[in-house]
Amino acid sequence: MYIDSHCHLDFPELAENLPAILDRMKENQVDHALVVSVNMPQWPGLMNLVAQHPNLYASVGVHPDYEDTPEPTADELVAMTRQPKVVAIGETGLDYSRLPEPLEWQRNRFRTHIRASRKSGIPLIIHTRSASDDTLRIMREESAGEVGGVMHCFTESWDVAEAAMEMNFYISLSGIVTFKNAASLQDVATKLPLDRLLIETDSPYLAPVPFRGKMNDPSKVIHVAEKIADLRGIPVADVARHSRENFFHLFSKAVDV
Ligand SMILES: [Zn+2]
Ligand SMILES: [Zn+2]
Repeated sequence: MYIDSHCHLDFPELAENLPAILDRMKENQVDHALVVSVNMPQWPGLMNLVAQHPNLYASVGVHPDYEDTPEPTADELVAMTRQPKVVAIGETGLDYSRLPEPLEWQRNRFRTHIRASRKSGIPLIIHTRSASDDTLRIMREESAGEVGGVMHCFTESWDVAEAAMEMNFYISLSGIVTFKNAASLQDVATKLPLDRLLIETDSPYLAPVPFRGKMNDPSKVIHVAEKIADLRGIPVADVARHSRENFFHLFSKAVDV
């Protein structure tokens, strides 16, 4: 019924509890999850994990928060997308909240990922923090809309959401939408067209209410769906159905099992 479109199940704090997490996912009808890459050294482990579970998919890419880490070229990324379970490129993007300028390397890395997306036809998973103007500018300059993708763990304004949707992007909401201080994001959640919506946990981070501050995992994506359904005054089954259809539409390489 539910799909977690963004999690980090390969991180040790989750991977070491994998059997219990997979059981909880089954109990909560969370039947698929996309395990998102953050750097190349961890990628073989991620691929090994998803290979063992038909309902887990993978992405490939280097997160903007990792400064001194192997830097794949666009062609190398394209080659890695040819593996059968790789359905997305990312997470990539810009994050000005953790590291100081000069961050030209971050912008260059982002451009490389967009070029790999256009060469391979594989959609992007974009992370943006305190950098929405530059993120949208580079998306436009590099024609990211040719393939499209998702703005993950969205926390920006409605204007940013609209600009991204105009470029063929989906908007993914995380547990942040359940937080008390998230009024403007809740407003975005009520306005988003249902055919542009994805849901995610970004686990192990950002556990939704009522688990805030605790360890997150993909089974908890139901609380994100329930909050969106509440805000919009629609059945949670509608949020589940639309976000599921959107997932398989966007990540067209993902086989529904
Ligand atoms: Zn992210
Ligand atoms: Zn992430």
